[in-house]
Amino acid sequence: MKAVVDKSLCVACGACAGTCPWVFRMGADGLAEAYRGFERTELDTAQDAAQDCPVGAIKIE
Ligand code: SF4
Repeated sequence: MKAVVDKSLCVACGACAGTCPWVFRMGADGLAEAYRGFERTELDTAQDAAQDCPVGAIKIE
């Protein structure tokens, strides 16, 4: 499974990287990125990060 961050929406709040650091990190451009795929066992926290994003920039695929 993987997450995708729409950087055109991200406001660099850092919430996703705080909630789910094994999927999200803040990139060199200061915006969030999903840097690795994840297993179904990690889906809950990835979904939490997506739901908590204040601008809806995260999609789970
Ligand atoms: S939670 Fe959303 S707005 Fe905040 S850093 Fe992550 S992708 Fe960007």
